[in-house]
Formats: sequence, structure tokens, C-alpha cells
Amino acid sequence: MKWDEYSDWAKMIADWGADYHATLRDRPVRAQTAPGQIAAQLPQAPPDGAEAMEAIMADFEQIVMPGMTHWQHPRFFAYFPANAAPPSMLAEMLVTTVAAQCMLWQTSPAATEVEGVMVDWLRQALDLPAEYTGVIQDSASSATLSAVLTMRERATGYSGNREGLSGKGQLRIYCSDQVHSSIDRACWVAGIGQDNLVKLPTSGPRYAADVDALKAAIAADGAAGHIPAGLIGITGGTGIGACDDLGPLLAVARAEGLYTHLDAAWAGAAMICSEFREDFWANVDGFDSIVFNPHKWLGAQFDCSVQFLADPQPQLNTLKIEPEYLKTTGDAVTNYSEWTIPLGRRFRALKIWFLIRSYGLDGLRARLRNHVLWAGELCEAIRAMDGFEIVTEPILSLFSFRCPGSDADQQRLVDALNDDGRIYLTQGAFQGQKIIRFQVGQFDTTRDDVMMARDVIADVWRNLT
Ligand SMILES: *Cc1c(COP(=O)(O)O)cnc(C)c1O
Repeated sequence: MKWDEYSDWAKMIADWGADYHATLRDRPVRAQTAPGQIAAQLPQAPPDGAEAMEAIMADFEQIVMPGMTHWQHPRFFAYFPANAAPPSMLAEMLVTTVAAQCMLWQTSPAATEVEGVMVDWLRQALDLPAEYTGVIQDSASSATLSAVLTMRERATGYSGNREGLSGKGQLRIYCSDQVHSSIDRACWVAGIGQDNLVKLPTSGPRYAADVDALKAAIAADGAAGHIPAGLIGITGGTGIGACDDLGPLLAVARAEGLYTHLDAAWAGAAMICSEFREDFWANVDGFDSIVFNPHKWLGAQFDCSVQFLADPQPQLNTLKIEPEYLKTTGDAVTNYSEWTIPLGRRFRALKIWFLIRSYGLDGLRARLRNHVLWAGELCEAIRAMDGFEIVTEPILSLFSFRCPGSDADQQRLVDALNDDGRIYLTQGAFQGQKIIRFQVGQFDTTRDDVMMARDVIADVWRNLT
């Protein structure tokens, strides 16, 4: 492709994008396709000859778009959001255009330096102490794996990477029974093993980990000759939004010398609002590592996950490797690839810069506050529906409910709602029952979009019964 052709297509695609967003409300939120339907429309073998961009773009519209679920749809209430506010999309277009690989300071000094400043802007937005530095990763899963590897290496005197884990005893990591599956997988991959991830029972209005159970588990592990290595706290669990009571957990972890990591992948965004921080984040500054995903609720185009570190040294001791071809001269610089597992790095900080400048923290705070408010209003509207019950009360903008009937009826309602297409919800499990989750967090959603969900649920339910 010639660069002048590129320019025409890029303009065309920018217009296409604006039109896509203008018409999103008219599209079904979840893709209405059957498995295999998209693949069946693609040629089975690659073309030997060149094809025209017109043909490629036409196929994109006809074959690909019908198979897309619209995460930017204002009535996306499933999972957690993956927002892409327009300024962050524009930043991504620039990053794609320059297409730098930002593994070392010298492979693009601006990428490293903007990243350092953006991590600090976010630190200030969350009111974390000035000691925290950090790094931008692709996902919370990667940040959590980095933290779990650090727990492992710290507990083995940094010998695991060199010697392997054989003969090192059983390392133990503690967390609540509400953590995300990325914590389990981090323990698998780090060689800790699922059986050495100790899941504590939860209780109270926010389903916090039981601190006495933590103490008892550590004592029993010590008596059995195991090695307590780390604690993982949660603010805003995926299922129902569970939040640990951070202070008491940290007090035990500190006394036992555990390395601590906090998973706030979703809820961390809300902590830019002081009232939520006071309510949910007392004592957060005791954690060694904290992860939050600006690519979820905050509005940064996927992917973008920030890991804050009270002291980066333990993670650097765990992950830094410097073969000759990666050596650079001068030590006054940060090479962020030494902080993470992948070597190659995208310039993810630019979209944070564009996003925060374009809305200001106040613009972002207003959205988050509205989402929490509207989730509460919708929760009351569903509570008032005949036979419906609220199973878990709103934690920030997430709550769960059940319709009358069995677990199978819950799934039937979810499937029927998603086939209807006006809204998109997902199911979950709580205390052995199937629940229907509802979260508000799409960047452009309005109160009308949220409250419309009540009518859609009532309507679809009526047709099912
Ligand atoms: C989404 C989520 C994760 C996983 O995030 P990725 O960035 O997709 O790896 C982990 N923990 C919680 C609480 C989440 O909500």
C-alpha cells in the first residue's frame, strides 16, 4: 500500500468509527451469531495475489462486524467494562502509527518518561503515598503473576529462578475465596500450585476475608513446615464486588513478613473519588504491590494495567535479566522491560495522558459517581419487581439479583435477554446459587440506558413465563 492511499483509508476509517459510535444504540449488544458462522465465510487458504483494500474493507463490514459484541454499547452491563474513550483511541492511533517497541529507555525515551509521569499522575489521583512507583502492563493477570513470582523469589532468598523449586518446601499464598481466576493461574504458572493457594472464607456486607482464618492458616502452615510467602487482597472481586478489610489483613501479613499484593483491577478506577477511597481503601498504602486496570472503568483503550510498587527492588530482583544485546550505557534511566515478564512493550502511557488531559480527573470522577448512583437506582427498581430478589447489594456499581424460579430459570432469563439484544448481562455464582450480575460502567451510558434495563428485564421475563 502506498502512503497516500493509507491516508485516504485512515480518514475513511476515522469517519466509519464516528458513525459506528453514533449508531451503537441501534445494534444488539451481544453478537447474534452461531458458533462457526463467521469462520465459514472466510476463505480456507490465504490469497497468493494482492487484493484491493475496497474488497478487504467490504468483507470486514459484511463478515466481521455482525460477529462483534459491542463493548462500547451504552447498554453493556456484562462482566466489567472495557472502555475506549475517544481521546484514548486517538492516542492509540498515534502509537500504532509510530509503532515503536518501547522495551528500553533508549528504544524510545519519550515512552519511558511519559510512562513514569503517568504512573505518578495515577498515583496522585489515587492518593497513594509518594514512595510508590510503578509500571504499565498489558493486563492485571500479568501484574499479578509478576507479584506472585516476587513472593516466590523473596520467600526462597531469590534462589528459585536459579535453582528451580525442587526441595524448597511448600510456599503458601493466602487470599479470599472471592478472588479472580487470574490469582489461581498466577499460582499455577509460578510453580506454587493450586493446593498452596489458601482461600479464606468471607463474611460481612462486603464479603471480606476472615482475618482469624488467615491467622489460623498461617499458624497451621508454620506448624506443618510450610513457608508462608504472600497475601493477595481484593478490592472489588469479579463475582459480586467483594472487598477485603485491608488494615487487619495487612497487620497479619506484616507481622508474618509476607509480601502483599492488592487486586483492584476493576474497582481501582473508582478510587480517584475521595469518598470511595475513604470508604474502601483505608490502609491501602501498606501493600507492596497494587494493580488496577485503567482499561476497565476509567476509559483507557484496552490494554492498560497499572501496577504500583512500594519498592520496585524485589520485583526487579525477580524479573530483571540483562543479556549483552539489551545492555545500555548509563544508569540514570529506567528500562521498564526489567520490571515485567514480556520484553517487548507498547507505548501504553500515551492514552492515559490523552484521557486525563481531555476529561480532567473531575470529568472522569463525574462518570464514575453517576455509574454508582444509577446502579443503586436500578437495584431498587429491580427489588420492587414482583418475585425478583436482590442477592448481593451494590458494591460500587455492581449488584446481583435473581428472578423467580430455579438456577435454570436464571440462565434462561440471561440467555433470553442477550438474544433480545437491547441489553447485555452475564450470570455468576454466589453461595452455590446462580445469580444474574449487573454492573454499570460503560463510558457513554446514561441514566436512561441504565433504567431502561428494568423495562427490558420485565418485558423479556413476561415473554418467558
Ligand atoms: C478483570 C479482572 C482481572 C483480570 O484482568 P486482566 O487485565 O484481564 O488480566 C483480575 N482481577 C479482577 C478483580 C478483575 O476484575
